[in-house]
Amino acid sequence: MALSGLDIYRLLPKTNCKKCGSPTCLAFAMKLAMKKASLDQCPDISEEAKKALDQASRPPIATIAIGTGDDKVETGGETVLFRHEKTFYHQTAIAISVDDTLSDSDLTGKVKSIEEMSFERVGQHIVIDMIALFNTSNSAEKFVNALDKVISNSKKAIILISENPKAIEAALKKYPDKRPLIYAATSDNLREMCELSKTHKAPLTLKANGLEELDKLSMEAASLGVGELILDPCPGTLNQALNDFTQIRRLSLKKNYRAFGYPVIAFVKDKDKYQIVRQACTFIAKYASLIVVDSLEREVLLPIITLRQNIYTDPQKPVTVEPKLYQFGSVDENSPFMVTTNFSLTFYTVAPEIEASKIPAYLLVTDSEGMSVLTAWAAEKFTPEIIYETMKKFDVEKAVSHKKMIIPGYVSVLSGKLEDVSGWKVMVGPKEASGLPKYLKEVSTNVAAV
Ligand code: SF4
Repeated sequence: MALSGLDIYRLLPKTNCKKCGSPTCLAFAMKLAMKKASLDQCPDISEEAKKALDQASRPPIATIAIGTGDDKVETGGETVLFRHEKTFYHQTAIAISVDDTLSDSDLTGKVKSIEEMSFERVGQHIVIDMIALFNTSNSAEKFVNALDKVISNSKKAIILISENPKAIEAALKKYPDKRPLIYAATSDNLREMCELSKTHKAPLTLKANGLEELDKLSMEAASLGVGELILDPCPGTLNQALNDFTQIRRLSLKKNYRAFGYPVIAFVKDKDKYQIVRQACTFIAKYASLIVVDSLEREVLLPIITLRQNIYTDPQKPVTVEPKLYQFGSVDENSPFMVTTNFSLTFYTVAPEIEASKIPAYLLVTDSEGMSVLTAWAAEKFTPEIIYETMKKFDVEKAVSHKKMIIPGYVSVLSGKLEDVSGWKVMVGPKEASGLPKYLKEVSTNVAAV
């Protein structure tokens, strides 16, 4: 059980010396209880208290780093079951599988395709996170040769997939600084794999037949000194996966059960496109921290990435675009002028419709702290004063000469006051962005006469 702030306080020196950065020992104890501070920030704590508090100061789910440099993947570190309780910290990493039985040219081609695969969505550039190299040949030599090809064509973090300790060892020795994820230690090879994990400072996956065996493996790995673990209970069905992953997440967060306090990996084994999406999305929603997929088809990856982006967007920090005056096409002083908020999804819904209209136009984006139009209006973040101030800030009067602005249909209520504040004529646009092409064609034929 996690200790309360008062339980922790009883074990602290109680000198209120402030060396930890907190004004009092009690304040520090409260931060520790909320996992917002680390025990080593108090230099005066006794060894005995340290031991007792270790459990309280450790996060319920460890954060595990795989790879190095800019392409390093961090996974785990979650503190809540549901995103709305706080936020999720590390989005599910997506690995695409390759195989050491592929010919050199096929393997290189696939790795290059993984490297090039990317998506633009609501202003974010999204790429594949990792490559999972399968040792299907069971030959250490072929495994290392394939790894050579992967590493010479990609900097992505790597999962080494083999239950053959010799193959894993050869790969780790060849590339000592890459910090790949080892997959996997089983009940048959645990000691050897733990040794490799410790020697090469590479995180290790525990692969077990169900939760009971996984529990035993995890405790054994901990007793062997391995603390950077990923868990795979090898569920046989999607239903079982949902059950196992939820149990692991609940036990680690609600009961602070250390043996399950690690990220989970899941393999999408189906070949059918729809089933791949169904499985991957279920794993992302509940509660895989890494998934391995054997597909490079955009129509398969896009829905998976979209779901992940939606779940792992911090609800307290909406995705925004830069507030400024955007231009679409060859604008001039007679071009229509519209205004909206800086919620990314709003902008990226409106922008393509303006482009589709083929009417050169201006779009002023105000700073609404990432709220959509109606929410921003209700929160008084999209008011006539804010709109007019933003117009002045971005010199809209110099850009257009007609002094007419188009506001979103949902906030028609702003019209009167906005006209009073700005002195501009306010026109109410369509409620939905999809109505913009027709609307712009109508108003742009003679904007001065509108
Ligand atoms: S450094 Fe330790 S003793 Fe000093 S205030 Fe912080 S918790 Fe208390």
